[in-house]
Amino acid sequence: MHAAGPALDFVRGPRTPFAGWRLSERTYDVLIVGAGAAGCAAAMNLPRGVRALLVDRGQPSDGRCCGGLLAPDAQRVIARLGLTLPQDVRVRPEPQAVHVHDLDSGRDQVYRRDYLNLDRRRFDAWLLGLAAARAQFRPHTRLVGLDIQGEGVAARIASAGIEENVRARLLVGADGAASAVRRAALPLAPAPPTMLAIQVRLAAAEPTPVHEVLFASRMTDFYAWSIPKPGAVLVGSAFGRPRGARERFQQILAWYRETFGLDGEVLENSARRLTRPRAGHDLLAGSGRVLLAGEAAGLVSPSSGEGLSFAIASGAAAGRAAGEPSPEVAYGRTFRRLARRVARKFIKARVIFSPAWRRWAMRLPWCP
Ligand SMILES: Cc1cc2nc3c(=O)[nH]c(=O)nc-3n(C[C@H](O)[C@H](O)[C@H](O)COP(=O)(O)OP(=O)(O)OC[C@H]3O[C@@H](n4cnc5c(N)ncnc54)[C@H](O)[C@@H]3O)c2cc1C
Repeated sequence: MHAAGPALDFVRGPRTPFAGWRLSERTYDVLIVGAGAAGCAAAMNLPRGVRALLVDRGQPSDGRCCGGLLAPDAQRVIARLGLTLPQDVRVRPEPQAVHVHDLDSGRDQVYRRDYLNLDRRRFDAWLLGLAAARAQFRPHTRLVGLDIQGEGVAARIASAGIEENVRARLLVGADGAASAVRRAALPLAPAPPTMLAIQVRLAAAEPTPVHEVLFASRMTDFYAWSIPKPGAVLVGSAFGRPRGARERFQQILAWYRETFGLDGEVLENSARRLTRPRAGHDLLAGSGRVLLAGEAAGLVSPSSGEGLSFAIASGAAAGRAAGEPSPEVAYGRTFRRLARRVARKFIKARVIFSPAWRRWAMRLPWCP
């Protein structure tokens, strides 16, 4: 499982407002933590004239563990924001069929789905370019402390071992699964469950344009996938129980290799947490001067793990809300709509992750 990060010093509540601030400390209208899809969407939707800082503990264009499939919902969200995907962000082959294999029931099913296939690294670089036009971006800069007050937030950020203080009227927590901002803003709320997701990139000269989905309860309580990419195939899965996950992933990989003749070498290994909301209380918009977006808010499909549509839609709404007299109220309207979309998938998730119910559901025209 993931190693614990450095100790964080997050406080909330009635301390002296911004105690210890020096005059030289920087003040922004908005501080955005996390430059993934949610944080970038927030930055690019800030009203003009808003002074904003966007920080990320890494360099997002270095690549992140993701399948890079843009589902129809995400395509609609991007179009609604008036954005057009640059051609070089899309890659071939573009899977237009999903083939589901259920090892528990022995059934399988094929259905059509119009995904766009992304080079996730170029997609992130594109989003970051748009975000950096509206906010000052600082990579390799981690949020290490937070003091949330009624009138804003005081944050401590660290870069190359040097810490500095910044303050902002509004904080957008877009720091993904296991969000530190969420823990600081809502210390009494339970963190949403997360899974350990593992993915490898296998060399493959001519990958077939099919998204192969595997359900096998002895190997994973979620599902596994393969996604064709240029000269490669991604094979991944996620595990609610991290114990033994790497061994079970090897079994899944062996199944994909054998079933689809994937004998290429492993070009890349990656792993990260994926939020798995189970109930309404896992979905949180934030509180007061802190808005949560994307996975930090718990917004991800509990049935498919699709998160880009939610990250971009929630991030964009959080960015727009920064220009409103009450950002919390303005953001709440969009957040509730997105939360209802996630909630509608809770039942679907129960069905498809139960081998017995899935056996029945496989007869219906459904998709994960
Ligand atoms: C293996 C895998 C495959 C997936 N495939 C798909 C797919 O094909 N299609 C799809 O739609 N969704 C997919 N998802 C889900 C999707 O990738 C996410 O839901 C979405 O990217 C979430 O975006 P985000 O901006 O909320 O979070 P993230 O992308 O996780 O971004 C959070 C950012 O915050 C930064 N950060 C964290 N903590 C701090 C800190 N303390 N200080 C500063 N920065 C910090 C991180 O470095 C990171 O860049 C997949 C997920 C996984 C794990």
